[in-house]
Amino acid sequence: MKVVSLYDRHGLGIGRSCPISAVAVSAIPIAGYAPPLNGLSLAQATHSHHEYPAIDVGLSSGTPTFAMVEGTVAVAFKSIAVFDGSTGRCGSTVTIDGVDGVRYTYCHLSAVSVQTEQSVVAGQQIGLTGGEPGSPGAGNTTGPHLHFSMNGGGRSLCPQPVILSILLGTPINPLAAPGTGCISGGAPTDWDQWLYEHLRMP
Ligand SMILES: [Zn+2]
Repeated sequence: MKVVSLYDRHGLGIGRSCPISAVAVSAIPIAGYAPPLNGLSLAQATHSHHEYPAIDVGLSSGTPTFAMVEGTVAVAFKSIAVFDGSTGRCGSTVTIDGVDGVRYTYCHLSAVSVQTEQSVVAGQQIGLTGGEPGSPGAGNTTGPHLHFSMNGGGRSLCPQPVILSILLGTPINPLAAPGTGCISGGAPTDWDQWLYEHLRMP
């Protein structure tokens, strides 16, 4: 087992060790939450999205992806269609309605390992990433990646500060996440600083 240490750059000692299994079959929940992927770097977790509040993580197809929180599977859609430029941009999709009132959506999956109405726990594998352009179920992609989005309270939420807070071992309430500041184009938000101010760490 490889262990990667994550440290807050303010040197406040909120860093935690994040164990990464060589063979990923689950993510390790922290206070009820788990990252959607094992081994996420801080740069990956805070990367802006190109279009609307969401996150794209470039990685090899076939990477296990996990439920971030306990909930119920609302959508478990395994598409066999090759994207034709019109419908089905998300491709094979899993959507989870979390017990926290947030809806979590995973796109471009190459495998779906849950069923609609199934209960899941934080860290439970829900499928494998995909997104190889032109492959069945990949949807609209330019390369293998996980597209991940969160909605709650009637709005889109930026996943970046939520995922970062989990990696740092101090999960925030996702409904407290902003819906701006995670889209490419403007000045990127310093999510580390945002968490520092939001959480009022000593
Ligand atoms: Zn995307």
